[in-house]
Amino acid sequence: MKEIMQGNSAIVRGAWEAGVKVAAAYPGTPSSEILKDVADNYPEVYAEWAPNEMVALQVASGAAIAGARSMAAMKHVGMNVAADALMTLAYTGIKGGLMVVIADDPFVHSSQNEQDSRNWARFAKIPLLEPGDAQECYDFAKISFDISEKFDTPVILRTETRVAHSDSLVEPGKRVESKIPLGLDPKEAPKYVMVPAHVRVRRKIIEERMRKLEEYADTFKYNVMEINDPSVGVITSGVSYMYTKDVFPEWSYLKLGMVWPLPKKMIAEFFKKVKKVIIVEELDPFIETEIKAMGYKIWHGKDLIPNMYELTPEIVEKCLKGKKYKEPKIKVKPEDLPRRPPNLCAGCSHRPLFYALKKLGAFVFGDIGCYTLAVAPPLQALHTCICMGAGGGMAHGAMKALGKEGLGKVVAVLGDSTFLHSGIAPLMNAVYNKGNSTTIVLDNRITGMTGHQEHAGTGFTVRQEPTNMVDYMEIGKALGVKSIRYLDPYNIKECMEIIKEEMSKNVPSLLLCKDSPCMLLRRAKPLEKFKNPLYMINTDKCRGCKVCLEINCPAISWRESAGQTKDGHKRKGTVYINPDQCVGCEVCVQVCKFEAIVPGKK
Ligand code: SF4
Ligand code: SF4
Repeated sequence: MKEIMQGNSAIVRGAWEAGVKVAAAYPGTPSSEILKDVADNYPEVYAEWAPNEMVALQVASGAAIAGARSMAAMKHVGMNVAADALMTLAYTGIKGGLMVVIADDPFVHSSQNEQDSRNWARFAKIPLLEPGDAQECYDFAKISFDISEKFDTPVILRTETRVAHSDSLVEPGKRVESKIPLGLDPKEAPKYVMVPAHVRVRRKIIEERMRKLEEYADTFKYNVMEINDPSVGVITSGVSYMYTKDVFPEWSYLKLGMVWPLPKKMIAEFFKKVKKVIIVEELDPFIETEIKAMGYKIWHGKDLIPNMYELTPEIVEKCLKGKKYKEPKIKVKPEDLPRRPPNLCAGCSHRPLFYALKKLGAFVFGDIGCYTLAVAPPLQALHTCICMGAGGGMAHGAMKALGKEGLGKVVAVLGDSTFLHSGIAPLMNAVYNKGNSTTIVLDNRITGMTGHQEHAGTGFTVRQEPTNMVDYMEIGKALGVKSIRYLDPYNIKECMEIIKEEMSKNVPSLLLCKDSPCMLLRRAKPLEKFKNPLYMINTDKCRGCKVCLEINCPAISWRESAGQTKDGHKRKGTVYINPDQCVGCEVCVQVCKFEAIVPGKK
């Protein structure tokens, strides 16, 4: 019976039915649900959160080399981290099937760039499948293991936000265990030890495999030709097919399920069957470049279709009706709409920490996490965000460039999950190279931004079993950091004093935010730290100075109304604390000089 499934769940279902035994991932939107789905619904499969995507791929590939069908999942930028393994796994091949799910993020809903992961397939010389809906996520995941074993290669399953997160009907089946026996054979070392003499042998095998894969692409059942009106034929794939077919159902299509390698004979046949060919694809002209390189003349491609952001049926229609796509006219002025910018939660420990950094005038090398929101006004206290773990390395580099001039001015800030992902090596580097940068770990006890995934510092596995937990203080000591201190981010004055002192030291410092769990992490009881459950404004005292608005707590808002305080100070309005949102963190209390914020509810 058909079931409605999210694309990510359908991938997991397909993998489970294909007999997958090991799954590893690092969370990242829009791929995060994949491993959680495995852990929650398929007890036969071993599942783990890895500290980063490289380790996830190492775990999955180790299991594959031991004969188990395995998978690794990550968002597009995660593949940049895992690429070192992927590029050489293409040489070694696998034994049990290995599927690598990469979830792209066109329009950059939740990422630091918009890279097109199809390029990895060409670069690594491995096959890539691209589903367009949940049924295809299921089908393609399932078949990816067969392709992987047949051609002895990892297979990329590339999704994107609209496929990963949309629901559609899927016809599930039954699990079939892999017939490949488990075991490791030391005699296979020449296949898996990539020293130059072995690499040269495997290099030839890659080319031979690509040739065979090209032949296979021409027979791949999910590369489908639909000949309707032969005057226009569209070559497309994934979600771009859905959009185009939606608005131009009468045209002919070559819908590619396998985007790399391309089915050359099918493409040749399609060009014979239709008069003019259009290529519709999101992001890079990946298919277009290849088809042009084959010597074909296309009617339209990226001359009309944008090479950035997402496509929609409307954009495809407008572009292909002969005009370049123009942004739709906005009927309602943005300034007339209620503002709902993303913000840190009420009571979040990152808020007072960034307020302290702003007051200190520090240049903050930031990182990827909820705290990146500190870039927005009014906090505006984060000044770079490049990639996972970058802040530490960049702060060290900046301090080396600035010399003594940089002392007291520079800090690196990253979350606990990000520190474990890729923040340890930069800190070790700063110690080794006699640096003097200050690193602050915003330890909120969870991977927050992607939806509360466990990690090596939380004490729980993906299946919520208690497990070993790293100690950040011990990591710092082991790296040789001489100045390591805990920090209470809710105490602004103390934060400013400690950070100022550490930024001025001529040695690397590590500051660890203590007892500051994510406000949404119920098991950590974040509210128990606060003395009073909520605060209110004493309107007799509030002078309407707006200083408390600078912390950007979502519970505090401005109410315009001219008047005066009880002791006669004129004002243009007062602030208001929403009792449904305030959690009593006392951060606003610390910034109000007029003692106008008091415990209570009004
Ligand atoms: S509560 Fe205090 S800081 Fe906020 S506007 Fe009133 S006087 Fe100023
Ligand atoms: S105490 Fe102040 S800063 Fe904290 S949640 Fe309440 S209103 Fe916001």
